[in-house]
Amino acid sequence: MPLKRLLAHAQANVPFYHDRLQEPDSSVATVSDLLNAVPVTTKDDIEANFPDGVTDGSDPADWRMMSTRGTAQRLITIQGFEKRDAVRAANLRMLRLAGGYRPGMPMVEIPPEVCENVCGEMGEEDEGVLSHLWSMLRERRLREQKSIRDLRGLVERNWIFNRKTYSGFGIHGSHPPPEILDQYVAGLRRDRPYLLKALATYLTTIAKHLRDSDAKPLSIPVIKTMGSRVTPGQRELLETSFGGKFWDDYGSAEFGSIACECDQHHGLHVFDDFFIVEVVDANGGRVADGELGWVLVTDLMNLTMPLIRYKIGDVGRIDHSPCACGRTGPRLTVTGRAHDVIVDREGGWCTTDDVVDFLESQPVVDSAQVSVKSKGWYEIAAVAIRNASIERGVLAASFAQWIGGQPRVDVNVVSTLRPEAGGKFRYVRGDLERR
Ligand SMILES: [Zn+2]
Repeated sequence: MPLKRLLAHAQANVPFYHDRLQEPDSSVATVSDLLNAVPVTTKDDIEANFPDGVTDGSDPADWRMMSTRGTAQRLITIQGFEKRDAVRAANLRMLRLAGGYRPGMPMVEIPPEVCENVCGEMGEEDEGVLSHLWSMLRERRLREQKSIRDLRGLVERNWIFNRKTYSGFGIHGSHPPPEILDQYVAGLRRDRPYLLKALATYLTTIAKHLRDSDAKPLSIPVIKTMGSRVTPGQRELLETSFGGKFWDDYGSAEFGSIACECDQHHGLHVFDDFFIVEVVDANGGRVADGELGWVLVTDLMNLTMPLIRYKIGDVGRIDHSPCACGRTGPRLTVTGRAHDVIVDREGGWCTTDDVVDFLESQPVVDSAQVSVKSKGWYEIAAVAIRNASIERGVLAASFAQWIGGQPRVDVNVVSTLRPEAGGKFRYVRGDLERR
């Protein structure tokens, strides 16, 4: 059993887990029993022991560090060869299962931040694989690490994935002027991707622009988000404007793809040969199916830096009933980041999905951000839909009624929302993790 292999390896070779795990007990048979004996691992645990205390003593020359840039809540993981292979396999499986993408089909990506060796300005042509190889030969850089990495990236993008990358909205925040959005639409009409994968904010802003400018809808079969969430309320807009189907998946740079939707679009099937996913309460006990809790991830493939019952920082629900597609493994629904949850007067959780869908359903609100200033005090920054204006008092009163109690609600009307460092947008700054 892969879990037994992981536990035995971590206990024997990783100082942090040596102390927390028992000697492997061969009489314990079920995954559930094995996991129950392991305490939850937090980001603080990892940071306090990084790197020597949380790695297995293998040769650092074989390591690769993975992290999400610009988000404070994620961690750095160290991956060996086996994990890197598993990441590649899981990514291809996710693309095939959730939308039927196969290598070679045209794909457009609009990532939150322009990455070092992949992206150019919009419309700029990529350097081709062959010309890159020629310049490596000419300049005798065949053994230079950076050139090899760039070459590998180019081959993967141009030959395996057939991927084009557009740059993000940058200084324009969440709402670039219409003429900039027209350029994105023109690019998509020209490149005719099978798959569009972009930051959720970019997807929704371009989709609303298409809707409001009476332009002919696009015809992109598969729409996916990267590095951020699309709420249930935003799906229909995306599918109408882009003329395809939205397929949700779940993962991170540190773990790779963890789960994805099947054609039933009813929860994310966990890749249970690579990961064990649990949803737990504040004490680490598993919650009942359908109940909200913290998501824990156990990575069965990373022996270099084992992460066992790791509290990844997301909240969600789990469902163990069989899916209509025939698969019987657990299905996960992720509803937002834990530090984005607002705790209401009764102690209930309002997740990012709840808050964003509520605000975007308000008259003339295009999009909005909420921050909890202190208990019962909320600040909202809202962008109005084009050619309309928001009544601050009306929006404040409506939010106050929705969240309950007698809160103080301050509303600022703005023309665009600003991203966090790293280019991602945070729509809710909650108070769950502060308690
Ligand atoms: Zn299914």
